Amino acid sequence: MTKKEYSKDKHKDVRTRLVKDGINTTVFKLLLKDCNIYTRTKLYTFIISKENVKYLKEHKNQLTKALNHELSLFLGRFNNSPDIPGKLEEKQKRPALNKIDSLENVRIAKNRCFYCNEKGTEFAQDHFIPWNYIYATEKHNMVPACTSCNSSKHDKLATEHFLDKIIQRNKKLELSAGYSESFMKSQWENCRIGYHGEDELLWQNA
Ligand SMILES: [Zn+2]
Repeated sequence: MTKKEYSKDKHKDVRTRLVKDGINTTVFKLLLKDCNIYTRTKLYTFIISKENVKYLKEHKNQLTKALNHELSLFLGRFNNSPDIPGKLEEKQKRPALNKIDSLENVRIAKNRCFYCNEKGTEFAQDHFIPWNYIYATEKHNMVPACTSCNSSKHDKLATEHFLDKIIQRNKKLELSAGYSESFMKSQWENCRIGYHGEDELLWQNA
């Protein structure tokens, strides 16, 4: 298939799939050959035609995404951090917990801050396992926190004492089938090692 043919609308899905699923190295090599993207001169030299440079520039974003995806799959083999591809998106939105679940969290906490037990009326919903590690807003990981604890904890991981506490708290929530106590424990442990740093002090309210 020529590049011109491949660029047609009817192959749009295939192109999207290639970018989304990453490109197998062998396939990619053949694709480059088919599209005559470069010609080899000497062993370590290759020439990219002006036309193709223009093409690469025009599709820079898609190509960067494909490369990032490959990189994320590669990195994913070496650590436990969840959703590496998601983290490569430049502007990851941090979704808020929905109103109903937020209110339920506050009600179950008896209008007290999860960390310092201070009674209050206004609470932030804190990502117990930090957003910067988890990149997800899920009910089982969200706790009401007073302004002071919320800003002091920021994106740190809280001590094991609070892990036990959130596990107890989660028993009172209706959670999806994917949640379990061991899942929570392993996420906390992976975050401690992979994100927080094993030798770093964990956060606790003063
Ligand atoms: Zn507090």
